[in-house]
Formats: sequence, C-alpha cells, structure tokens
Amino acid sequence: MTMPSKWEIAHYWDKSPRRRDFAPHLQLDEPCCFACGSFAERWKRDTPQASWQRASLERSHVVPQSLGGPDDASNLLLLCRACHRESPDWRDPEQMVRWIATRDERPSQELETFMAWLAAAERAPDFGEALASVASEEGAAERVSEILRDLIGQAGTHFGVGYSQGTRVAVLQVAADEISKRARPADRGAEEA
Ligand SMILES: [Zn+2]
Repeated sequence: MTMPSKWEIAHYWDKSPRRRDFAPHLQLDEPCCFACGSFAERWKRDTPQASWQRASLERSHVVPQSLGGPDDASNLLLLCRACHRESPDWRDPEQMVRWIATRDERPSQELETFMAWLAAAERAPDFGEALASVASEEGAAERVSEILRDLIGQAGTHFGVGYSQGTRVAVLQVAADEISKRARPADRGAEEA
C-alpha cells in the first residue's frame, strides 16, 4: 500500500468530522501545519493541489507504524518539521488530539520567512546599497519586486525545506547587480544637476 499524497491527506481531513481535533488550522486553499498553523512558503501561486504537494510539510502518523498505525489518510497528519519532531508517538490517537490542543499557534511561517530574508540581506550588503541608490526613483519598489520575483522563480529549493539561506543570499546578490544595471542614468544626472 502506498502512502496517500499530501493533497489526499489534506482533503481527507477537510471532510472529516474530527477535523477540529486533528487539523484545527486546516484550510484547503492554503497549505499549513495542522498542529500549529504555520504556513508553508508561498511565493509561487499555484493550484491548491500543487501547493499542498510542494509544501514543506511532513506526513506524520497519528499512531506510529511501529505501534500498528496504518499508512492511511485517517492516520496521517501534515505537520511542519518542528511539530513533527515534537509530536507524541503513542498508541492512542486521543493523545495526539490533546497534544495538538496544547500546541502554541505560530502566527505564520511568513513572518519567519521574512526574518530569514532580512538575515540574508545582512549577508548581501550590495543589495541594501543598490536598493538605497534607487529608492527615490519613481516606481522603484515595483521594479525591485519584479526583479526579485523573477530571480526567486529561477531558484531551486531544497527538498522539504524550501529555499536555503544560501539561495536567499544569492538571490539578493544577483538582484543588487540587476538593480544597478537597470538604474536610469538620466535620473542620476538630474540628481546631480
Ligand atoms: Zn507546526
């Protein structure tokens, strides 16, 4: 028997009468950890099915295989790495329910992702300088976000963890070059005059 896909698991719990107990944060259109609600990284827009499949969430047994739990959607939850590591391995599923109820809700992985990008920016000082050099230009924010979106689309992801910190630094470094290249010389001249 093959393990159900992440989408099949999300779909199963969406319809389950015990959804509130086992997947209190579940929303089908936004992949997130069932236990703490942390969002999977979501830069790329996609169908709900594709985003669940790609989401950095792990399939976690309610009753572990070693204690006789089946590889069935009814016995599998989708958890972030931190929750998966801490979740109970116990023969009674109700212990999982109790644990989920006590799990602190994380506001969203987006904030953590944002902090990771900030940390990457510190390691790519050229990016900050390039940003500052065009900040006063009209439409600068749009152009910079266009450059970033394009570069992020070209980046690879580590299996299960999304973008590595090294990838973020690389994206910002290349972005710094792109921003400087596209800066309009006319504006520079006008500033100096
Ligand atoms: Zn979690």
